[in-house]
Formats: sequence, structure tokens, C-alpha cells
Amino acid sequence: MSRLIVVSNRVAVPQAGRAKAAGGLAVAINSALRERGGVWFGWSGHVSETPSLTPEVTTSNNIDYCVTDLSPDDLQEYYHGFANRVLWPLMHYRVDLAEFSRADLSGYMRVNEEFAEHVSRFLKPDDVVWIHDYHLMPLAKFLRERGHRNKIGFFLHIPFPSLEIIQALPHHLEVSAALTQYDLVGVQTENDRENLARYFALLGGREIDGDHLFEFPDRQVRIGAFPVGIETEVFARCARRISRSSFVKEVRESMSGRSLVIGVDRLDYSKGIPERMDAFERFLAANEDWHNRVTYLQITPKSRSEVQEYADMEHQINAKTGQVNGDYGEAIWTPIRYINRSYSRTALAGLYRMADVGLVTPLRDGMNLVAKEYVAAQDPADPGVLILSQFAGAAFELGDGALLVNPHEAEAVAAALKRALEMPLDERRRRHAGMMKIVEENDIHRWAARFLSALSAGDASRQPASLAKKAGSRGGSDASSGGGVSRHISFPAA
Ligand code: UDP
Repeated sequence: MSRLIVVSNRVAVPQAGRAKAAGGLAVAINSALRERGGVWFGWSGHVSETPSLTPEVTTSNNIDYCVTDLSPDDLQEYYHGFANRVLWPLMHYRVDLAEFSRADLSGYMRVNEEFAEHVSRFLKPDDVVWIHDYHLMPLAKFLRERGHRNKIGFFLHIPFPSLEIIQALPHHLEVSAALTQYDLVGVQTENDRENLARYFALLGGREIDGDHLFEFPDRQVRIGAFPVGIETEVFARCARRISRSSFVKEVRESMSGRSLVIGVDRLDYSKGIPERMDAFERFLAANEDWHNRVTYLQITPKSRSEVQEYADMEHQINAKTGQVNGDYGEAIWTPIRYINRSYSRTALAGLYRMADVGLVTPLRDGMNLVAKEYVAAQDPADPGVLILSQFAGAAFELGDGALLVNPHEAEAVAAALKRALEMPLDERRRRHAGMMKIVEENDIHRWAARFLSALSAGDASRQPASLAKKAGSRGGSDASSGGGVSRHISFPAA
């Protein structure tokens, strides 16, 4: 089996002596890397004036974790600027919030090229490369320019928007069109895949089979939907165990028999938190019989506070929470508990299991793992109800079991809340069983295995004869024919 090279913006480097639980994605990537042996490369999370040309390497379990620092300009332009202030809003359909600057674009391309330069130093001809997310879309282009003809796959964790939106990205041909340099581009949903197919057609790609293979003048690219999953079994077990803990008991006691509605989201405009609070207020306004009988717990760790829109949204949510609690609360009842701290996944598993309703109403979301975690954490004998935005990637898989809502329509979300809180047990069980089956079948390990096998499946025999001939005439193995750029570096001892 070929060695696997994973590249992502951040790397989950194992910390000696620290048993910090890794997220599901890191677990899946680690297990794929361990199985084949490999390298995980990315940003260290640190900034230094003059980042070293040699990445820092930690070796553990057959995996080399290689990280490099960013310079202050890299951080500003590549990360805060182009990735978070342009690509993030735009791909989430918020063109109005995208703040484009040429300096940020060139910083983004520069860091991608630097990453390619690092990877190029240790890439062997038959390595398989898996690049993750919107920070690194053009990376394959820079690897190809260095002569590498390895299998390179890309997975986009956030939505791929419609043609009109992607074309609003200034210089989109430099950024997204570089996706044509991959062998496989994976996205979360069929909707994203269709959007990407239209974009590839716009770029002159011709779909050559019914299986989403696109032909460009110099290469073929396959695209596919690979909805990301969670560590379902581990999460369900964790929810069962923590539900007997003193933490969960205390929270339950504090509810005094009231029903619990839970929302868990980073503070981000894509998550629709103010809209959700409006909907909860509508629900209270229309259902006096539910006053003092339900509590809405919204857990929202702050993120990206340095971006103005995030700070503005924080004020807006604080004001809304205060207003609803002021208008509807009583001495013994606070309708909304709004919390800005972050909880461990274990604690969340216990809270999800206790909650009668999972309220997951992003305005736009690549997948939304909270929706899947909520399902996995339920007691199948007495499960809660998932209310899910039709604009979350998870709706494509869980749409039949969840109550699907348009998060922009407060009345509809309020009506779904009432229906969920009053839903009979047999309907709750039926809906939950259907969703659980899907979440169990498509867990994070299956997701990684599906992507990697699709990436490995495409081989030279799929190339059109003209290209195969051209490739053969270059002689030798991939990168070594490109001017000796694939010299294998020996990493310094960890
Ligand atoms: N999460 C967490 N602690 C918190 C809030 C969230 O560990 O206090 C986790 C949550 O369990 C989920 C992830 O953060 O696994 C959020 O993923 P999601 O896809 O829902 O949204 P994203 O933040 O990636 O946009």
C-alpha cells in the first residue's frame, strides 16, 4: 500500500504526557496514516518572524507529524485574510461579508506554494497525497509545477457554492480553478458536487462518463460526494457512560423536570444563532403553556473574535438573550441559558443525551457534526428529536428522520419546536432509528476509507490514450522526472 501524505492547515500533533481527546477527523486521519505509514504536514499554530525551512517533526506510531510556523504576514494574509475573511463567508453564501484584497490573495498563494515546497522535499513518487479544506485549494497546482504526478486528492469540508457565488470571488480562476489539478475532489453533499460539476463545465471540463469524471486538456479529475461522519460507536458509548456522571446529574437537577432544548455551535454567522433565538422567542410567545416548562441551553464557544462581524454578532446575541430572559423569565426560570465556554465532547455527549430536542439550524453548513453527534448520543428507547436546517450538509443524510426547517423562517422553527417537544414516543423512536442507522453506517472511518479507495482507484489506465502516452514519454517515476525535486529528506530526530 502506498504511503499516505496528509496536508491540512492544522495538524493534531500528539502531545507527550497529554491525553487530550482528539476529534473524530483526527482519529480517522491518524488511523489511515498508521495503517499505511505516512506524514501529516501543516501549520504548527505558531507565528515566527522567520519560519524555518525545515519543518519540526514528531514521530509517533509510524507517522511523522511535520509542522511549520507562519510569519506574521502569512498569518494575516493567508489565514485571517483570505481564508477566514474571503473564502469562509463566500463559500457560506455570505458574499456581502467577504473582504477581498489582492495582498491577502497573494499571501494565500504564497503560503500554499511554501507548503508545496515543504511537501515536495519529502514526497516519494508513489506516495498518495490527501489535502484538506479551503485553506489549501491551490496546493496541488504548486506540487504539479514541481513535477509531481502523484495521486493527489482534495476534500472540501465546507460547502461548494453555486456558480453565481463562486464567480463573485475575484480571481477565482487562480484559486478554485486550481482544483482541476487534483485526481479526486471530494465534497460533502450531492448538492456541492453538482455545483462543482457546473463550475468544472464552466472551466471547459467535459464529463466523460456517468461517474463524474471530468476531462481537461492536460488531465482528468473525478469529483464525488463523501459526507463526513463521526466516531459513532465511541460517541454513543461515551454518552451512555457520562449520563450516569455527577456532572449530568447536577445539570438534570438544575432543570427541575423541565424539558431541555440544546444548541451547540461555534460563534459564527453561518450557524444562525440570532435567528434561532428569534424562533425560540416566537415559540414562547405562541405557547404560553410551555412557559416555565422548557429551557433552551445554547453552548457557544467564541471563535475568530478578531473579525468585526464576529464581535458584532456576539453583542447581538447577548442583547437578544437578555431581552428574551427579561421578557419571559421568572424568579425560578431562565428561558435561555447562553454559555460562551467550550465543553469537552464527553460532556457534550451527556448533555445531548439529556436534551429532548437538538436544535441545529445553521444558515449554511458543510456538514454539521453536532447534528450527527446528537443522534448518536440518544437513548434509543427514549430518544430526543433533531430539528435540522435544510441548509446543513447533514440534512442530505438525516432529512427523513429529523424535522427539517428553513432557519430563516422563525415561525416554522417555532412550530417544529412545539412538534418536537410534544412528539409521541413511537414516532421519536422511529425517526431516531432511521437516523442512527445512517450515522452508524457512514461513520468517520468509513468516510476516510471511501475517499482513499476512490483516490487509489483512479489509475493511469483511466487516462485518455493521448495523455497516457505523454505521461509515459516523460519516463521514470513521477517527481523524479521533474528535475530531482523529490529528494527524500531525512527528518531530524523528534
Ligand atoms: N464542540 C466541542 N466543544 C464545544 C462546542 C463544540 O467539542 O464546546 C465540537 C462539537 O462536538 C463538534 C465540533 O466542535 O464535533 C463542531 O463541528 P461542526 O461540524 O458542528 O461545526 P464547525 O465548528 O466545524 O463549523
